[in-house]
Amino acid sequence: MHSVLGAIRAALAVAWGLLALWPVPCAGDPLVELEGRTMGTGYSVLVCAEAGLPPRADLARGVEAILARIDAELSTWRDDSELARFNAARSTGWISVSPETAAVAVAALSVSRRTGGAFDPTVAPLVELWGFGRRPSLAEPDPEALARTRARVGYAALTAREVPPALRKARADLELDLSAIAKGRAVDALAEFLADQGARHFLVEIGGELRARSGRPDGRPWRVAVEAPEEDGAEPRAWAVLALADAALATSGDYRRTLEQDGVLRSHILDPRVGEPVGHDLASASVVADTAMQADALATALLVLGSRAGLRLAEEEGWAVLLIERRDGRLVEHTSTAFDRLTRIDRPPLARAGG
Ligand code: ADP
Ligand code: MG
Repeated sequence: MHSVLGAIRAALAVAWGLLALWPVPCAGDPLVELEGRTMGTGYSVLVCAEAGLPPRADLARGVEAILARIDAELSTWRDDSELARFNAARSTGWISVSPETAAVAVAALSVSRRTGGAFDPTVAPLVELWGFGRRPSLAEPDPEALARTRARVGYAALTAREVPPALRKARADLELDLSAIAKGRAVDALAEFLADQGARHFLVEIGGELRARSGRPDGRPWRVAVEAPEEDGAEPRAWAVLALADAALATSGDYRRTLEQDGVLRSHILDPRVGEPVGHDLASASVVADTAMQADALATALLVLGSRAGLRLAEEEGWAVLLIERRDGRLVEHTSTAFDRLTRIDRPPLARAGG
């Protein structure tokens, strides 16, 4: 039997544990906590309820409405989402989409170009073929099916424009999968909503992708943890603890969502350049960026690139990245110069102690 190892929300659990070290993060104002489920995972919002902010119930309703809208646009699990309709269409002309979907596709394509196709929003047919679609399976695809499927994948066949918002496929059978960037986009949308409501201090998280506004009102930063890559069932622990203010953090890992059968593990992230699940020793990639959307997409791209190529590109582009690699049964980290400039509260030996 194969089993999909549960997507654990440990990054957050750890972050929450650390936040709890400070009983009064909002310096006198109440701390509003909202939680729920979206995109097959959990979300949480921590916001300091300063004077003038709408009541908790209104914030909760607003948050749910945004998440429902994004799900209706980007979900690959429902047949009636905007994305599903684009995928079902066989037209190679412009197809109108919401401004939101167009913006996400534009951002996705830009990451595709900057990563030489390591990130590819047209990877869906390969995801399906390798058993990560609606019917999970670990059967090896036969070479012919693989070749046919690879021919359908390639971001060069997708064009996106924002004004007026539309997408176009050069192949009628091209399919769009924005799962690797959608959570980040939703985090950004929630952050924009909270800021519009007048919130000045908050932390938003969906499935481990985070974005913070300001530090905390008491002048301290939000403390967030990058989870140590561990196998199923292990107690979550922090690998690194960062001070986050006006920035986003996203992590992609091969340890969280993997198909397993008889000891064979298969990553749910595909290398679109070769048409196969990523097979190297990079266990997780974390990125700090201005937006959660950017961080989310880059984290996925880095997991595909692997530590050497990933770190080289991160240096060239000035990205703040933390890569954790499995080497001889141990976990070893690599960081870019931009990451080293961030305020890191832990020191690596400390974070690793006891593990
Ligand atoms: P998670 O959702 O586990 O946090 P990601 O954000 O990295 O992980 O997104 C992984 C999802 O993105 C996969 O389930 C698949 O649908 C899609 N995907 C897989 N490989 C790629 C890739 N190389 N580029 C873009 N999307 C990908
Ligand atoms: Mg991602």
